[in-house]
Amino acid sequence: MTVKNRYGLVFNPRHLSFSQTDAEPLIAGLQKAGFIGETFSIDNYQAHLVGENFLKMVTFLGCSPQIELTPPDRENWHNFCHIQIQYFPEPIYYRGMNRTRCSCSQCGARITDKLLDLSQWQADKLIIQCPKCQEKQPVEQLNWRHGAGFGQFFISIHNIYPNEAVPSDQLLKLLNSFYQGWNYFYYEI
Ligand SMILES: [Zn+2]
Repeated sequence: MTVKNRYGLVFNPRHLSFSQTDAEPLIAGLQKAGFIGETFSIDNYQAHLVGENFLKMVTFLGCSPQIELTPPDRENWHNFCHIQIQYFPEPIYYRGMNRTRCSCSQCGARITDKLLDLSQWQADKLIIQCPKCQEKQPVEQLNWRHGAGFGQFFISIHNIYPNEAVPSDQLLKLLNSFYQGWNYFYYEI
């Protein structure tokens, strides 16, 4: 069975290459801090429940959001807030179907879609020249405005709607204590 998680909040280190060895102390640290909880697997799908301090580390916006932290029922079991560690052999361009907008990281000018063909994206290969300040930047260093991420390693909190929640300073500090520089983004399919 293929699990389709429809939306979520995803974290990735800004550094494109990230090995499984790099990931091990980080995952252990996130478990110890109570962000990641127990591992579960159903059919061929493996992920983690959220840990006991998860709600201190992710701030839900708006009043009394409905957050399911345990599987609702057998049929819809994956429709609840849980964490999946995703590791890819090569860096990938990770995004959902939601419309993403990006801008120059130097001057903030909008980069139009016609400059961006990411279907064959490979690390450090696609250089974009800003139409306004003329700065040349690898596409992964543009400002993706929390709409996409590039890399090999992703921590996905599934079943958070785009902009429904944001990471707390505590969580960002914790992530940065392992590796400096993180991006987060929302996906929706
Ligand atoms: Zn620019």
